[in-house]
Amino acid sequence: MKETVVSGIRPTGKLHLGNYFGAVKNFVKMQYDYNCYFFIADLHSLTTHPTPGDLHGYVKHVLVEYLACGINPEETTIYIQSDVPEVAELYLYLNMNAYMGELERSASFKDKIRSQSDNVNAGLLTYPTLMAADILIHKATKVPVGKDQEQHLEMTRTFGNRFNRMYKTDLFPESYAFNYQENLVKVPGLDGKGKMSKSSGDGSCIYLSDSPEVIRKKVSRAVTDAGPTEENQPKPEAIQNLFDLMKIVSPADTMAHFDGLYNKCELRYGDFKKQLAEDMILFNTPIREKIEEISKDTSYLRQVAKHGALKARESAQKTIKEARELIGFKSF
Ligand code: AMP
Repeated sequence: MKETVVSGIRPTGKLHLGNYFGAVKNFVKMQYDYNCYFFIADLHSLTTHPTPGDLHGYVKHVLVEYLACGINPEETTIYIQSDVPEVAELYLYLNMNAYMGELERSASFKDKIRSQSDNVNAGLLTYPTLMAADILIHKATKVPVGKDQEQHLEMTRTFGNRFNRMYKTDLFPESYAFNYQENLVKVPGLDGKGKMSKSSGDGSCIYLSDSPEVIRKKVSRAVTDAGPTEENQPKPEAIQNLFDLMKIVSPADTMAHFDGLYNKCELRYGDFKKQLAEDMILFNTPIREKIEEISKDTSYLRQVAKHGALKARESAQKTIKEARELIGFKSF
């Protein structure tokens, strides 16, 4: 029996290089080796209150971009989270045994208190229980995500184990974050600090659908400094971030060349950024072209979403039936 894999992405806009290298790249490889469920986390995205019009467009972006990146709906189950109401039901059960203290300690919740202080809703607090429901509903053991999600996976194990102990069962297996590389990936943004993230603004993100002109403009505006003054000096965060991005999209010898120049204090940021932008364009172009092609094919998208919902519900209904019986909801 193949191991089960679950992962999703919130439809809050277009996918960027962080989503690709942290998650989708692994989805594409894993689909041939595992029993995979990849979803579009539209329930999660409600924490930021998208308008109904925006929400549908964002869901379409992610669906199209999954397909354009090479996720094959014949090999794997691609679905929209809100098409599987069993996820929301399991979320409710898990919330009964998720404690305020542990939810408040989550790093992502603390971040959100800072970044959206005018909208600290209960959905944000219980984001980890919804994520646990996403994973446990299919009894997944592997979850391809970026480094930012590691703590949520730990909480998923806590909630699953707690349910198992409470109802004296082994219904939920433990799941672990997964990346084909040795370490989980964190793709930096272009704004000189932190990870690439939609919440840091469009200027910090390279989207998979960005045109060459847009990529050149964004990279040329990326934060740098006055340049190194001593040989082999450590790189400040903003510069290290650009090198980390180059490591992801450029050949190793290109990266070694610019690293050598930096260490000899001979690096011209203009040349470095030009090369980085051209390598990003080389990487993006085939995906961008597929995005343009697939987004026109509404009947194909409808068929993929419908087929995915059927397959995902079949698996989810089995788990919910077992959970309901364990909890004590029995028919007369
Ligand atoms: P989100 O946009 O928060 O729904 O994230 C979707 C997936 O992309 C998750 O697996 C994240 O770990 C991953 N991800 C998002 N941003 C980054 C980043 N900058 N570096 C690595 N992975 C990321």
